[in-house]
Amino acid sequence: MSSQKVSEVPAGNTEPTMVDVAIVGAGMAGTTLATLLGRAGRRVALIDPHQTHPDEFRAEKLGTGQARLFEKLGLDATVQPLMTPMDDIHVFRLGQLFSRERRLEYGFSYGALINGLRAALPHQVPLTVAKVAEITTGPDKQRLVLNTGAIIEARLVVVSTGHSEALRRAVGVRRIEDSKAHSLSIGFDLAIAPGECAFQTVTCFGRRAEDRIAYLSVFPIGGTMRANMFVYRQAGEPWTKAFRKEPQKMLCELMPEIAAQCGNFKVGGPVEIRPIDLTRTEGHRRDGVVFIGDAFCTTCPTPGVGIERVMTDVDQLHSLHIPRWLETPGMAADKICAFYDDPVKIAADENGMRASYYAKAITIGTGLEWRIRRLRNNTARQLMIVGRKMKHLGQRRSPGLA
Ligand SMILES: Cc1cc2nc3c(=O)[nH]c(=O)nc-3n(C[C@H](O)[C@H](O)[C@H](O)COP(=O)(O)OP(=O)(O)OC[C@H]3O[C@@H](n4cnc5c(N)ncnc54)[C@H](O)[C@@H]3O)c2cc1C
Repeated sequence: MSSQKVSEVPAGNTEPTMVDVAIVGAGMAGTTLATLLGRAGRRVALIDPHQTHPDEFRAEKLGTGQARLFEKLGLDATVQPLMTPMDDIHVFRLGQLFSRERRLEYGFSYGALINGLRAALPHQVPLTVAKVAEITTGPDKQRLVLNTGAIIEARLVVVSTGHSEALRRAVGVRRIEDSKAHSLSIGFDLAIAPGECAFQTVTCFGRRAEDRIAYLSVFPIGGTMRANMFVYRQAGEPWTKAFRKEPQKMLCELMPEIAAQCGNFKVGGPVEIRPIDLTRTEGHRRDGVVFIGDAFCTTCPTPGVGIERVMTDVDQLHSLHIPRWLETPGMAADKICAFYDDPVKIAADENGMRASYYAKAITIGTGLEWRIRRLRNNTARQLMIVGRKMKHLGQRRSPGLA
């Protein structure tokens, strides 16, 4: 293992900078992988066209399991201060309070989280702000020419450019759309402050299949109450246009059971609407380059499995595959394929895809199987709600016997 330090790749430098691993794309996958490899003493170049990650709508909430992944990777001290913890989740189903869940979740702004991770990069792994103008890959050596004129030579290139197609196309891999326009993710701030909202966190599931709403989640990020809503609709359809125009009116009609407690859904900022495609990659089994995170496949935000998938890629690569690959000469496709064939990675990707399809089918599936499942689930839930109400009533009537 080499402990030679790499300084930021200087613009216009015609002498190649030699590294073990060149990571292209400094989002969640690229930045965390660069941190872990840098901490392990690897020579790493991290390249992204933006000095600061834009504050765009992406993942904004993590569950306990996902937060544990950051802990496992030793990144918890960096991410914890950038997150708002919450542990009291009111869950509404069928228009009624269904359960109150006391588990830890975290709200965050994606841009702030990535910028915090970038600020905590090991000093020998600075971010190089540039675009890749040329890429040459092979079984031994990889070469990147940046738009600044700088040249990087690496044993391995990691592509972690998310949804972006430019570098994937330059390498010659294809994105296969398994489910185009699978869902829409909608994000907006509420005008109400966390202290004024009756709930610390609330998750309200759509009432009827015809509403095509998986759920709305309202939760704090710092001093702001944020809303994420996941729906199975198209970006251009009248419903979506109407929601963008009058979110408050539509939310009050769709979810009256929580409206009053959420400041009657007065919206405090722009409504961001992102169409989601489920995609995978073809033609990626090649010499010298590995695709990770959303650059490899994309799942649906509704079941909240994206970050877990991304962090599983990072974990398996940094702890297992990259150390093995660097041990011996060469970086031919057979080495790289060990990552794509890794059962842990495959399970995380398959779980993400399965959960994405299931969440849609159980919400709006029209086949007999899905209608029966919904009926069965809703009947069981309705009985639980009635049972709890009766128990509560009984306790109030005979307080001494509770
Ligand atoms: C609206 C929305 C909501 C979501 N909600 C959830 C959620 O609730 N829970 C969950 O688990 N997941 C969620 N996800 C999924 C999750 O956000 C992604 O899986 C994760 O952010 C992907 O990380 P990444 O590092 O692969 O890509 P990104 O974070 O997108 O990083 C890509 C990086 O590559 C850079 N780049 C692009 N092109 C180039 C280039 N040519 N050269 C160099 N750099 C380049 C970009 O600047 C960027 O920094 C959501 C996604 C969306 C879109």
